[in-house]
Amino acid sequence: MLHTLHLDIEQMQRVIPGFLLLDTHSTILCAGHEMLQYCPLVIPEQFTEKFTVVSPAECNLNEVVSGTKIILECRSNRQTFQATVEHVAQSDYLLMVCSPQSITEVFENNKIAKTENIDTHRTQNNLKDQLYNLSAALEHSDIAILTTNTERTIKWANQQCVNLMGASLSELIDADFLELWHNHDNTITNSVRSSIENYSSFEVELPAKDKKNESKWVSGTVQPLMQNTTIMGCIVVLQDVTHKKQAELQGYKNSKRLHDLVLNLNDAVLLENEKRHIEIVNKRFCELFAIPYNPEMLIGADCTQAAENFKHLFIDEEEFVQRIETILAEKKHVVGEKLQLKDGRCLEREFIPTITDQQYLGHLWIYSDITERIGYQERISKQREFYENVLNQIPSDIAVFDKSHHYLFVNPIGIRSPEIRHWIIGKTDYDYCEYRNKPRSIADDRRELFNAVIQTKRLRVWEEELKKSDGNIEYYLRYMYPVLDSENEVTMVIGYGVNITERKKAEKTIAEALAQQKELYVLKSNFISMISHEFRTPLSTVLSSTQLLKKYSNTLTAEKKEKHLVTIEKAVHRMTSLLENVLFIGKNDSQRLTFSPLKLDVVAFMNEVIEDFVLANAGINRINISYKTSQPTVFADSGLLRQIVLNLLTNAYKYSPNDSEVFVTVYVNEKESVFVIKDQGIGIPASDKKHLFHEFHRASNVGNVQGTGLGLSIVMRCVDAHAGTINVESEVGQGTTFTVTLPQSKSHKI
Ligand code: ATP
Ligand code: MG
Repeated sequence: MLHTLHLDIEQMQRVIPGFLLLDTHSTILCAGHEMLQYCPLVIPEQFTEKFTVVSPAECNLNEVVSGTKIILECRSNRQTFQATVEHVAQSDYLLMVCSPQSITEVFENNKIAKTENIDTHRTQNNLKDQLYNLSAALEHSDIAILTTNTERTIKWANQQCVNLMGASLSELIDADFLELWHNHDNTITNSVRSSIENYSSFEVELPAKDKKNESKWVSGTVQPLMQNTTIMGCIVVLQDVTHKKQAELQGYKNSKRLHDLVLNLNDAVLLENEKRHIEIVNKRFCELFAIPYNPEMLIGADCTQAAENFKHLFIDEEEFVQRIETILAEKKHVVGEKLQLKDGRCLEREFIPTITDQQYLGHLWIYSDITERIGYQERISKQREFYENVLNQIPSDIAVFDKSHHYLFVNPIGIRSPEIRHWIIGKTDYDYCEYRNKPRSIADDRRELFNAVIQTKRLRVWEEELKKSDGNIEYYLRYMYPVLDSENEVTMVIGYGVNITERKKAEKTIAEALAQQKELYVLKSNFISMISHEFRTPLSTVLSSTQLLKKYSNTLTAEKKEKHLVTIEKAVHRMTSLLENVLFIGKNDSQRLTFSPLKLDVVAFMNEVIEDFVLANAGINRINISYKTSQPTVFADSGLLRQIVLNLLTNAYKYSPNDSEVFVTVYVNEKESVFVIKDQGIGIPASDKKHLFHEFHRASNVGNVQGTGLGLSIVMRCVDAHAGTINVESEVGQGTTFTVTLPQSKSHKI
């Protein structure tokens, strides 16, 4: 078992940092580094010179027994220690194992000190309690507190001082305050000096660097420490206000920046307080109102007369003054007010009242020179007006769409009504169709084309047929093309359409004329082939008869000669009739056919026509005519009516067997005359009926019966000239009935 322990000094330092080793003369031979930290010792040093034994009172170190607990106080810095005294074995040295005491511990210990008088004891205890509380409060205070002696040597400092000054307590105690605390102008240290020298208090707030060279802002007071009338030193109470100061500094920087910003603004700015005294005014304001002073010189100036002073600059002087009065009375935010100056400039005014916590603190005037902006806006709007005028004058409907087919613009040709033109902006064709009750399919078709334009980024052209509200159809040739930006992206789509109704009509007329031309061409070729055929037969008849007459004139009997002459005469008649028919049609087509209606005695007229017919067609006497008339006259062109009756009679006989009868019935009343020619001939096949009145058309059942196919077209033209009608009823093999109805009036088509 180990009874003694030998430690050298170094080991002691490591194991017991707070020790003191004294010899028999109470000289401190050695001290632990913690003791050196708390008490500045110059070893060897007399213990009694450096320390006082506070407890137990009147303690004699030479007589103290091992294990005794004592309380020491360092004379220089009043730092107290609790120590246990031990006599070192086999030597006369005394070992004190010390630990530093806080002030509260000191009072704690003091509390147990005994006094003889119980009342005094109580009073002392109360006092001690108060002192204890006070010292505890000081010790743990958030505020750094220290005291110095008159030499400015720190004698006491609390924990917050340690934090604030960046030094340990032992570094602080007995240190010269001036050496510990650095700041560029030594405000604190000078305050301490002055406080001591002049017995006066100082308030300080300043940046400083602590022992660790850390920058801080501190604020507090320096007060002289008095005992009765004697100055003992001073009390320094300090607080770390770095954060607060930084925030203030930031606020200051911000407000300075704002202030600078206002001063350098391109707008004229004037900040007035509630008494209308200038707080801020910038250079631009002075320039705008031609004020011959620096802005700084105007600070504090009274603005109550400002409106009067500057009204001469404005076109409407009184209005300027009155409006300012109104604005100031209403104290409401005003924005975008335009003011016209006499020199041609235009200003825009803003008024901002400053109200904080329902208290009116003043107001801010901002004036901006918008002369250029207005000029620019005017130019822009003139340009816009110009282009819109141009677009509006173009005789084509124009619409501009955004990428999603919404209308951006449409000109008056596109939509006539200004209200709808305005309404449609931002809308689509679907909205338009719904609004105008038009089929949705129109919008569908346009959307399809629009999408194609967007996808292909190419122009599309198409024709559109629109039924107007009056029932007329109009045709439009529409174009839609994309407007591309520098990156080949579609920015908008322009659509325009040209009304091509007139062109379409012209095209139709041309097409019809062309068809007519073609028809005419066919007619001509038909005509030529027909004529050449129809003429060849009678001509060859004439030729053969004349050759026979010429060759056998001496030998031919008179009877035979007569027969040949009749043959020639018939052939010539046939050719003449053919030529007359052709001439008639030609006249009608070139509109040279004359129509001269007269009142005709219908019976006399018909008798004459039939007589001529019989004469021309020798041997025909089978005409069965009857009249059912309420009046004797018909109103007709005799030449044309003759053509009608002769052609229908000729056909009736031509397309009937030789012995068959033809019935003619004439009906006449006040309104109309009706001529019915009925035969019992070959009839007309149904398929031929619709072409019956076309030139050169002949039914498929004519067989060898001669004809040119012109007779009925002549009849039709004559009936048309009378504004009458012709009707045909026919059955193949049963017979045919033609009914011609002519009005008893002067109206006619020619
Ligand atoms: P032409 O020029 O000498 O009169 P066409 O008699 O043949 O010749 P249209 O009178 O125009 O010509 O008659 C046209 C056709 O109508 C005839 O070729 C014939 O086929 C038919 N047609 C007209 N009238 C009758 C009728 N009464 N009976 C049967 N067919 C008829
Ligand atoms: Mg005929």
